[in-house]
Amino acid sequence: EITSSKIAAGEVVEKPAMVVKELVENAVDAGATEIIVDVKKGGKKLIRVVDNGCGIHRDDVDLMFERHATSKIRKIDDLYKTISLGFRGEALASICAVANVEVITMQENDDYGVKIEASGGAIKNKSEMGAKRGTSIVVRDLFYNTPARLKFLKSDSVETKHISEIMGHLALSHPEIAFKYSTDDQMVFRTPGDEKLENTIFSIYDRTLIKHLFEIKDAFDFLKLRGYISTFDYTKGTKQQQIIFVNGRYVKSDVIKDAINLAYKPYLMHNRYPVCFLFLEIDPDKIDVNIHPAKTEIKFHDDGVLKQFIYTALKKAFNLQNQ
Ligand code: ADP
Ligand code: MG
Repeated sequence: EITSSKIAAGEVVEKPAMVVKELVENAVDAGATEIIVDVKKGGKKLIRVVDNGCGIHRDDVDLMFERHATSKIRKIDDLYKTISLGFRGEALASICAVANVEVITMQENDDYGVKIEASGGAIKNKSEMGAKRGTSIVVRDLFYNTPARLKFLKSDSVETKHISEIMGHLALSHPEIAFKYSTDDQMVFRTPGDEKLENTIFSIYDRTLIKHLFEIKDAFDFLKLRGYISTFDYTKGTKQQQIIFVNGRYVKSDVIKDAINLAYKPYLMHNRYPVCFLFLEIDPDKIDVNIHPAKTEIKFHDDGVLKQFIYTALKKAFNLQNQ
């Protein structure tokens, strides 16, 4: 029923950046080694995600647009992981309900692919088409049929900024995938996909940044930390460059940020943000994640232990650095 799916769509798709995130995560799940993303006018006019992943079987393509159609639950026995990564079979259906969507997909052993055009949740056209292995999804005119939601969107440049931030997180959490990302026909970044985090950082951020980063690696009990943090002399850091992933998922955590800022405090002049790209692995039993795909909040059962661990890990890394 179109009406109810339009309302429900808002839950998953609040802004263009979330569409980009869902489409890229699908490409990642499909085993892509190369993902090309381009957006126009902050994603309002166009969002295109092209991957070289496994593709979708021609008989399953129609299902993709239906709510709760997911191919992933049965593949993954770890239900926790399934839920926390947001495999709910809802993203594509939600996006399709509020946009014009074109999907071209082909699987490895097929001779040609299939193209599907859908609009406002309904399939308008399906045809056979020459293609390469993988999937290309184009989302046009997002929220064209939900004027209230369209009005709620920010300016093109602000929406573009949100998309770029999310694209940065996605690329950082997958250094093994080569990303090409452009906005309004301008290349923003291109990562090598060589599995090296530092090369991914180099291609996305300020090109002098790497010079000011050092590696961090530590473990304690059920906690494991790795990544890069900036030296005390780096002055170009911003709030947006304190990037933290917990169990592979980008999160916002005041507890972790507090620990970082506390560790840096004696060394930094005012108005400087230490830069960090941190990957924390933690026993899933020790956290609560909000299963809503849009939410980046996370709750740790024991903030104190975590804060102490991060603080100590950073201090140890500082000392090593200064030897
Ligand atoms: P979920 O990711 O939770 O399964 P989605 O609505 O995001 O739900 O996608 C629905 C289904 O469509 C997926 O389970 C997958 O089978 C298929 N799919 C979507 N995007 C791709 C893609 N880029 N490559 C291969 N399959 C895809
Ligand atoms: Mg998905």
